[in-house]
Amino acid sequence: LRAIGGEFALIDRIRQRVGASGGAVLLGIGDDAALLGPSGTASNLVVTTDLLIEDVHFRRSWCEPYLLGRKAAAVNLSDIAAMGGIPTATFLSIALPTNLTVEFVDDLIQGLDDCCKEFGSQIAGGDTNAAPDRLVISVTQIGTVFPTKAKRRTGARYGDRILVTGRLGDASAGLALLEKFGLAGAEKIAATAVRRQLSPTPRVAEGRIAGELGAVRAMMDLSDGLLGDLGKLCSASRTGAVVQMEAVPVGQGAKKTAAKLGANPLSYALYGGEDYELLIIVMAEAAQDVMVEIEKSTGTAVTDIGEIVAGDTVWYVDAAGQRFAASAGWDHFAGGEPASTGTTGRAEDDTIE
Ligand SMILES: [Mg+2]
Repeated sequence: LRAIGGEFALIDRIRQRVGASGGAVLLGIGDDAALLGPSGTASNLVVTTDLLIEDVHFRRSWCEPYLLGRKAAAVNLSDIAAMGGIPTATFLSIALPTNLTVEFVDDLIQGLDDCCKEFGSQIAGGDTNAAPDRLVISVTQIGTVFPTKAKRRTGARYGDRILVTGRLGDASAGLALLEKFGLAGAEKIAATAVRRQLSPTPRVAEGRIAGELGAVRAMMDLSDGLLGDLGKLCSASRTGAVVQMEAVPVGQGAKKTAAKLGANPLSYALYGGEDYELLIIVMAEAAQDVMVEIEKSTGTAVTDIGEIVAGDTVWYVDAAGQRFAASAGWDHFAGGEPASTGTTGRAEDDTIE
Protein backbone atom coordinates (compact mmCIF):
# COMPACT_ATOMS: atom_id res chain seq x y z
CA LEU A 1 0.00 0.00 0.00
CA ARG A 2 2.86 2.35 0.81
CA ALA A 3 4.44 1.77 -2.61
CA ILE A 4 1.21 2.93 -4.25
CA GLY A 5 1.16 6.11 -2.16
CA GLY A 6 -1.38 5.29 0.52
CA GLU A 7 -4.98 4.31 0.67
CA PHE A 8 -6.46 7.23 -1.27
CA ALA A 9 -3.97 6.77 -4.08
CA LEU A 10 -4.95 3.10 -4.21
CA ILE A 11 -8.62 3.99 -4.42
CA ASP A 12 -7.89 6.47 -7.22
CA ARG A 13 -5.97 3.77 -9.02
CA ILE A 14 -8.86 1.36 -8.73
CA ARG A 15 -11.27 4.04 -9.85
CA GLN A 16 -9.20 4.80 -12.96
CA ARG A 17 -8.89 1.14 -13.85
CA VAL A 18 -12.61 0.51 -13.39
CA GLY A 19 -13.61 3.61 -15.38
CA ALA A 20 -16.81 5.63 -15.21
CA SER A 21 -19.93 4.03 -13.82
CA GLY A 22 -22.78 3.28 -16.19
CA GLY A 23 -25.77 1.05 -16.74
CA ALA A 24 -27.59 0.39 -13.50
CA VAL A 25 -24.74 1.96 -11.49
CA LEU A 26 -25.89 5.54 -11.02
CA LEU A 27 -23.11 6.44 -8.61
CA GLY A 28 -20.00 4.29 -8.28
CA ILE A 29 -16.72 4.73 -6.47
CA GLY A 30 -16.25 7.97 -4.55
CA ASP A 31 -19.14 8.53 -2.17
CA ASP A 32 -20.31 7.03 1.12
CA ALA A 33 -22.17 4.34 -0.77
CA ALA A 34 -22.99 3.37 -4.35
CA LEU A 35 -26.40 4.04 -5.89
CA LEU A 36 -27.96 1.46 -8.16
CA GLY A 37 -31.09 1.97 -10.24
CA PRO A 38 -32.18 -1.41 -11.58
CA SER A 39 -34.73 -0.98 -14.36
CA GLY A 40 -38.35 -1.19 -13.34
CA THR A 41 -37.77 -0.06 -9.75
CA ALA A 42 -39.02 3.19 -8.26
CA SER A 43 -36.40 3.25 -5.52
CA ASN A 44 -32.63 3.16 -5.90
CA LEU A 45 -30.51 0.70 -4.01
CA VAL A 46 -27.80 2.07 -1.74
CA VAL A 47 -24.86 -0.29 -1.24
CA THR A 48 -21.82 -0.02 1.00
CA THR A 49 -19.27 -2.41 2.44
CA ASP A 50 -16.72 -2.24 5.20
CA LEU A 51 -13.98 -4.47 6.50
CA LEU A 52 -12.89 -4.82 10.14
CA ILE A 53 -9.60 -6.60 10.79
CA GLU A 54 -8.38 -7.64 14.21
CA ASP A 55 -5.36 -5.61 15.39
CA VAL A 56 -5.88 -3.15 12.55
CA HIS A 57 -9.35 -1.86 13.44
CA PHE A 58 -9.95 -3.39 16.83
CA ARG A 59 -8.27 -5.43 19.52
CA ARG A 60 -9.97 -8.46 20.95
CA SER A 61 -8.77 -7.50 24.43
CA TRP A 62 -10.89 -4.31 24.36
CA CYS A 63 -13.89 -5.47 22.48
CA GLU A 64 -16.68 -7.38 23.96
CA PRO A 65 -17.81 -9.50 21.03
CA TYR A 66 -21.35 -8.17 21.36
CA LEU A 67 -20.18 -4.56 20.90
CA LEU A 68 -17.86 -5.56 18.09
CA GLY A 69 -20.83 -7.05 16.26
CA ARG A 70 -22.81 -3.88 16.84
CA LYS A 71 -19.97 -1.72 15.56
CA ALA A 72 -19.54 -3.83 12.42
CA ALA A 73 -23.19 -3.13 11.63
CA ALA A 74 -23.17 0.50 12.79
CA VAL A 75 -20.30 1.70 10.59
CA ASN A 76 -22.09 0.36 7.52
CA LEU A 77 -25.48 1.70 8.55
CA SER A 78 -23.81 5.07 8.97
CA ASP A 79 -22.85 5.13 5.28
CA ILE A 80 -26.44 4.32 4.30
CA ALA A 81 -27.57 7.17 6.57
CA ALA A 82 -25.06 9.48 4.87
CA MET A 83 -26.89 8.97 1.56
CA GLY A 84 -30.30 9.63 3.14
CA GLY A 85 -31.09 5.92 2.71
CA ILE A 86 -33.24 3.42 4.57
CA PRO A 87 -31.36 0.26 5.64
CA THR A 88 -32.91 -2.99 4.40
CA ALA A 89 -30.54 -5.98 4.28
CA THR A 90 -27.16 -6.84 5.75
CA PHE A 91 -24.66 -9.45 4.52
CA LEU A 92 -21.95 -10.73 6.83
CA SER A 93 -18.75 -12.44 5.74
CA ILE A 94 -16.52 -13.56 8.52
CA ALA A 95 -13.18 -15.33 8.84
CA LEU A 96 -12.89 -17.00 12.25
CA PRO A 97 -9.57 -17.94 13.81
CA THR A 98 -9.58 -21.33 15.54
CA ASN A 99 -8.92 -19.78 18.97
CA LEU A 100 -12.35 -18.13 19.14
CA THR A 101 -14.95 -19.64 21.45
CA VAL A 102 -18.47 -20.48 20.35
CA GLU A 103 -19.77 -17.92 22.88
CA PHE A 104 -17.64 -15.21 21.26
CA VAL A 105 -19.13 -15.95 17.87
CA ASP A 106 -22.67 -16.13 19.26
CA ASP A 107 -22.27 -12.78 21.01
CA LEU A 108 -20.76 -11.17 17.93
CA ILE A 109 -23.67 -12.26 15.75
CA GLN A 110 -26.15 -11.20 18.43
CA GLY A 111 -24.64 -7.70 18.55
CA LEU A 112 -24.68 -7.41 14.78
CA ASP A 113 -28.25 -8.66 14.55
CA ASP A 114 -29.52 -6.40 17.35
CA CYS A 115 -27.98 -3.32 15.76
CA CYS A 116 -29.33 -4.23 12.31
CA LYS A 117 -32.84 -4.80 13.65
CA GLU A 118 -32.75 -1.60 15.67
CA PHE A 119 -32.27 0.32 12.42
CA GLY A 120 -34.66 -1.74 10.31
CA SER A 121 -32.23 -4.06 8.55
CA GLN A 122 -32.18 -7.85 8.34
CA ILE A 123 -29.19 -10.15 8.05
CA ALA A 124 -29.85 -11.86 4.73
CA GLY A 125 -26.74 -13.88 3.98
CA GLY A 126 -22.97 -13.94 3.85
CA ASP A 127 -20.02 -16.29 3.98
CA THR A 128 -17.98 -17.95 6.71
CA ASN A 129 -14.43 -19.20 6.64
CA ALA A 130 -11.59 -20.24 8.91
CA ALA A 131 -8.70 -17.80 9.31
CA PRO A 132 -5.15 -18.47 10.54
CA ASP A 133 -5.09 -16.19 13.60
CA ARG A 134 -6.94 -12.87 13.17
CA LEU A 135 -10.65 -12.28 13.12
CA VAL A 136 -11.87 -10.56 9.94
CA ILE A 137 -15.40 -9.20 9.60
CA SER A 138 -16.77 -7.88 6.33
CA VAL A 139 -20.24 -6.40 6.24
CA THR A 140 -22.16 -5.31 3.16
CA GLN A 141 -25.16 -3.14 3.82
CA ILE A 142 -28.01 -2.54 1.40
CA GLY A 143 -30.56 0.23 1.68
CA THR A 144 -33.07 2.05 -0.46
CA VAL A 145 -33.56 5.68 -1.30
CA PHE A 146 -35.96 7.54 -3.56
CA PRO A 147 -33.81 8.73 -6.49
CA THR A 148 -34.32 12.46 -5.97
CA LYS A 149 -33.63 12.15 -2.23
CA ALA A 150 -30.18 10.57 -2.30
CA LYS A 151 -27.60 12.96 -0.87
CA ARG A 152 -24.22 12.86 -2.54
CA ARG A 153 -20.97 14.59 -1.66
CA THR A 154 -21.03 16.69 -4.81
CA GLY A 155 -23.87 19.14 -4.12
CA ALA A 156 -22.21 21.79 -1.92
CA ARG A 157 -22.29 25.39 -3.26
CA TYR A 158 -20.64 28.64 -2.12
CA GLY A 159 -22.51 30.22 0.75
CA ASP A 160 -24.01 26.94 2.03
CA ARG A 161 -23.83 26.28 5.76
CA ILE A 162 -21.99 23.30 7.24
CA LEU A 163 -23.90 21.41 9.93
CA VAL A 164 -22.87 18.46 12.10
CA THR A 165 -25.01 16.17 14.23
CA GLY A 166 -24.12 15.32 17.83
CA ARG A 167 -20.69 15.92 19.31
CA LEU A 168 -17.27 15.16 17.90
CA GLY A 169 -14.01 13.74 19.21
CA ASP A 170 -15.20 11.20 21.77
CA ALA A 171 -14.48 8.12 19.66
CA SER A 172 -10.87 8.96 18.90
CA ALA A 173 -10.34 10.13 22.48
CA GLY A 174 -11.66 6.73 23.56
CA LEU A 175 -9.18 5.04 21.26
CA ALA A 176 -6.30 7.05 22.72
CA LEU A 177 -7.37 6.02 26.23
CA LEU A 178 -7.79 2.35 25.31
CA GLU A 179 -4.33 2.24 23.73
CA LYS A 180 -2.77 3.84 26.77
CA PHE A 181 -4.70 2.39 29.68
CA GLY A 182 -6.57 -0.68 28.45
CA LEU A 183 -10.32 -1.12 28.85
CA ALA A 184 -10.68 -0.90 32.65
CA GLY A 185 -8.36 2.09 32.98
CA ALA A 186 -9.89 3.92 30.04
CA GLU A 187 -13.43 3.49 31.36
CA LYS A 188 -12.45 5.05 34.67
CA ILE A 189 -11.19 8.17 32.92
CA ALA A 190 -13.92 8.76 30.34
CA ALA A 191 -16.59 6.08 29.97
CA THR A 192 -18.42 8.13 27.31
CA ALA A 193 -15.35 8.25 25.10
CA VAL A 194 -14.81 4.50 25.43
CA ARG A 195 -18.45 3.76 24.69
CA ARG A 196 -18.45 5.93 21.60
CA GLN A 197 -15.29 4.22 20.37
CA LEU A 198 -16.58 0.71 20.96
CA SER A 199 -20.25 1.21 20.16
CA PRO A 200 -20.97 4.11 17.79
CA THR A 201 -24.55 5.06 16.93
CA PRO A 202 -25.36 5.42 13.24
CA ARG A 203 -27.47 8.52 12.56
CA VAL A 204 -30.02 6.71 10.43
CA ALA A 205 -33.12 8.70 11.43
CA GLU A 206 -31.23 11.98 11.14
CA GLY A 207 -29.94 11.06 7.68
CA ARG A 208 -33.37 10.06 6.52
CA ILE A 209 -34.88 13.37 7.57
CA ALA A 210 -32.05 15.26 5.89
CA GLY A 211 -32.73 13.16 2.79
CA GLU A 212 -36.32 14.38 2.75
CA LEU A 213 -35.28 18.03 2.85
CA GLY A 214 -34.59 19.66 -0.51
CA ALA A 215 -32.49 22.37 1.13
CA VAL A 216 -29.89 19.75 2.09
CA ARG A 217 -27.46 19.73 -0.82
CA ALA A 218 -24.77 17.28 0.26
CA MET A 219 -24.06 14.88 3.06
CA MET A 220 -21.47 12.41 4.32
CA ASP A 221 -20.71 10.63 7.55
CA LEU A 222 -17.68 11.47 9.67
CA SER A 223 -15.46 8.42 9.84
CA ASP A 224 -11.98 9.86 9.41
CA GLY A 225 -12.14 13.17 11.27
CA LEU A 226 -14.02 16.38 10.57
CA LEU A 227 -11.39 18.34 8.66
CA GLY A 228 -10.27 15.44 6.50
CA ASP A 229 -13.79 14.33 5.70
CA LEU A 230 -14.92 17.87 5.00
CA GLY A 231 -11.93 18.10 2.65
CA LYS A 232 -13.24 15.07 0.76
CA LEU A 233 -16.71 16.54 0.47
CA CYS A 234 -15.28 19.89 -0.68
CA SER A 235 -13.09 18.16 -3.21
CA ALA A 236 -16.10 16.23 -4.57
CA SER A 237 -18.09 19.49 -4.76
CA ARG A 238 -15.09 21.56 -5.99
CA THR A 239 -15.39 24.05 -3.16
CA GLY A 240 -13.52 25.16 -0.09
CA ALA A 241 -14.84 25.60 3.44
CA VAL A 242 -14.33 27.75 6.51
CA VAL A 243 -14.92 26.11 9.89
CA GLN A 244 -15.35 28.21 13.03
CA MET A 245 -13.32 26.25 15.56
CA GLU A 246 -15.23 27.78 18.46
CA ALA A 247 -18.48 26.39 17.09
CA VAL A 248 -17.33 22.78 16.75
CA PRO A 249 -19.26 20.73 19.33
CA VAL A 250 -16.66 18.81 21.32
CA GLY A 251 -17.80 15.73 23.25
CA GLN A 252 -17.49 15.45 27.03
CA GLY A 253 -15.38 12.31 26.62
CA ALA A 254 -12.90 14.18 24.44
CA LYS A 255 -12.69 16.96 27.02
CA LYS A 256 -12.04 14.56 29.89
CA THR A 257 -9.48 12.65 27.86
CA ALA A 258 -7.69 15.82 26.83
CA ALA A 259 -7.49 16.94 30.44
CA LYS A 260 -5.98 13.60 31.43
CA LEU A 261 -3.49 13.39 28.55
CA GLY A 262 -2.61 17.07 28.37
CA ALA A 263 -4.01 17.29 24.84
CA ASN A 264 -6.20 19.87 23.12
CA PRO A 265 -9.78 18.53 23.10
CA LEU A 266 -10.37 20.19 19.72
CA SER A 267 -7.67 18.05 18.15
CA TYR A 268 -9.85 14.99 18.78
CA ALA A 269 -12.89 16.72 17.31
CA LEU A 270 -11.11 18.08 14.22
CA TYR A 271 -8.74 15.25 13.39
CA GLY A 272 -10.02 12.19 15.25
CA GLY A 273 -12.05 9.65 13.36
CA GLU A 274 -14.94 7.28 13.98
CA ASP A 275 -17.50 9.74 15.28
CA TYR A 276 -20.07 8.52 12.74
CA GLU A 277 -21.90 11.81 13.00
CA LEU A 278 -23.34 13.37 9.84
CA LEU A 279 -21.89 16.32 7.99
CA ILE A 280 -24.84 18.08 6.38
CA ILE A 281 -24.43 20.85 3.80
CA VAL A 282 -27.49 23.04 3.53
CA MET A 283 -28.62 26.21 1.73
CA ALA A 284 -27.88 29.10 4.09
CA GLU A 285 -31.43 30.44 4.20
CA ALA A 286 -32.76 27.03 5.29
CA ALA A 287 -30.04 26.13 7.79
CA GLN A 288 -32.02 27.12 10.88
CA ASP A 289 -35.12 25.19 9.76
CA VAL A 290 -33.10 22.08 8.93
CA MET A 291 -31.42 22.15 12.33
CA VAL A 292 -34.74 22.54 14.12
CA GLU A 293 -36.42 19.84 12.01
CA ILE A 294 -33.74 17.23 12.74
CA GLU A 295 -33.51 18.13 16.42
CA LYS A 296 -37.26 18.10 16.86
CA SER A 297 -37.74 14.73 15.18
CA THR A 298 -34.75 12.85 16.60
CA GLY A 299 -33.60 14.66 19.74
CA THR A 300 -30.11 14.85 18.23
CA ALA A 301 -28.47 18.27 18.48
CA VAL A 302 -27.32 19.81 15.20
CA THR A 303 -24.67 22.55 15.13
CA ASP A 304 -23.77 25.10 12.46
CA ILE A 305 -19.97 25.12 12.27
CA GLY A 306 -19.16 27.11 9.18
CA GLU A 307 -19.58 27.94 5.53
CA ILE A 308 -18.80 26.53 2.10
CA VAL A 309 -16.61 28.99 0.19
CA ALA A 310 -14.87 29.25 -3.18
CA GLY A 311 -11.45 27.69 -3.60
CA ASP A 312 -10.11 24.26 -2.78
CA THR A 313 -8.95 24.67 0.80
CA VAL A 314 -10.59 23.78 4.10
CA TRP A 315 -9.81 26.60 6.53
CA TYR A 316 -10.51 26.88 10.16
CA VAL A 317 -10.74 30.07 12.14
CA ASP A 318 -9.65 30.20 15.77
CA ALA A 319 -11.14 32.26 18.58
CA ALA A 320 -8.89 35.21 17.71
CA GLY A 321 -10.15 35.20 14.12
CA GLN A 322 -6.94 33.78 12.68
CA ARG A 323 -7.33 31.52 9.67
CA PHE A 324 -5.42 28.26 9.17
CA ALA A 325 -5.44 25.79 6.31
CA ALA A 326 -6.63 22.43 7.64
CA SER A 327 -3.66 20.59 6.16
CA ALA A 328 -1.33 22.80 8.22
CA GLY A 329 -3.38 22.12 11.31
CA TRP A 330 -0.93 20.08 13.30
CA ASP A 331 1.33 23.07 14.00
CA HIS A 332 -1.50 24.90 15.62
CA PHE A 333 -1.84 22.09 18.13
CA ALA A 334 1.87 21.86 18.86
CA GLY A 335 2.29 20.71 22.42
CA GLY A 336 -1.04 18.94 22.43
CA GLU A 337 -1.23 15.29 21.61
CA PRO A 338 -2.78 14.79 18.21
CA ALA A 339 -5.90 12.67 18.11
CA SER A 340 -4.71 9.14 17.74
CA THR A 341 -5.47 7.28 14.61
CA GLY A 342 -2.70 4.88 15.72
CA THR A 343 -2.55 1.29 14.71
CA THR A 344 -6.25 0.85 15.17
CA GLY A 345 -7.32 4.09 13.53
CA ARG A 346 -9.80 3.41 10.82
CA ALA A 347 -8.38 4.73 7.62
CA GLU A 348 -11.56 4.73 5.61
CA ASP A 349 -15.03 3.43 6.03
CA ASP A 350 -16.41 3.94 2.61
CA THR A 351 -17.49 1.56 -0.09
CA ILE A 352 -14.49 2.02 -2.27
CA GLU A 353 -13.72 5.62 -2.31
MG1 LIG B 1 -18.66 7.37 4.87
